[in-house]
Amino acid sequence: MIKVRHVKTYEEFYLLGTGFGMYKSSRPGILWGNLDPHEEEGSVGMLAVCDDYGIIKWFNSKSLRVIEIDGHEIKSSQTESALSCPACGSSVTEADATCPSCGIGFIDG
Ligand SMILES: [Zn+2]
Repeated sequence: MIKVRHVKTYEEFYLLGTGFGMYKSSRPGILWGNLDPHEEEGSVGMLAVCDDYGIIKWFNSKSLRVIEIDGHEIKSSQTESALSCPACGSSVTEADATCPSCGIGFIDG
């Protein structure tokens, strides 16, 4: 049994499984309309969890931390705030919705 905790709400859940959330967006190109659509797609790691009532939820993997595996507590990190922006590398905290340095937004689960 793996227990996880949401990094912002501190709710605790049981980890059920993992998967990938796919996203794809398409908008018409400027010159050729739908003949030249601009498409973006990608995937994000998703975790399926459930709460004490068995309600299943999916979260972005970045929103959760494993706190316990089969009764063994994970060492709480002293460096929880020592995250770095994927774009500019400056330090950010998990509470930041956007990078204070370059201003990019982070995916929120
Ligand atoms: Zn940044």
